[in-house]
Amino acid sequence: MYFNIILDTIVFFIAFFGMEGAARLMHKYVMHGFLWSIHKDHHIDMGHKFQRNNLFGLFFASISVAFFVTWAKTGNTVFASAGLGMAMYGLANLVVHDMIMHNSYLHLRDRKHSKYVTNLIAVHNMHHQNDGKNKGVNWGFLFYIPRIDVPPTLPKKR
Ligand SMILES: [Zn+2]
Ligand SMILES: [Zn+2]
Repeated sequence: MYFNIILDTIVFFIAFFGMEGAARLMHKYVMHGFLWSIHKDHHIDMGHKFQRNNLFGLFFASISVAFFVTWAKTGNTVFASAGLGMAMYGLANLVVHDMIMHNSYLHLRDRKHSKYVTNLIAVHNMHHQNDGKNKGVNWGFLFYIPRIDVPPTLPKKR
């Protein structure tokens, strides 16, 4: 079996952080573009029990699975690293975006969070201030990137 711990580690991180980039591009140009009809119910409560928007998560998950299948077929662990990086990003996104930012499933939003996470919540709230297809801000999920993202407007501390 082919195995290179350094290459595998690098690929893992490229897949993990690359997913934030891919998700941002997808969010801005596809989800708020020609596939708005699928993303719409994440912005506007349409009474769906299961948000159509979750299909985007399933789309990325299927790519991750394809990497694991390729690993199983070839024995090349670099494919497992790529699949794992994507899967870990998906998991982090589920916790941070769904459970913390939107308070779903485990309802983690109102816990005590670090300053970074508190900022992230505010940054993502700004994305949701615009419930239309166009003119959005802050397309990211796990990271706040100065100069690309509009800084959060936090309520002033007393
Ligand atoms: Zn959106
Ligand atoms: Zn959201």
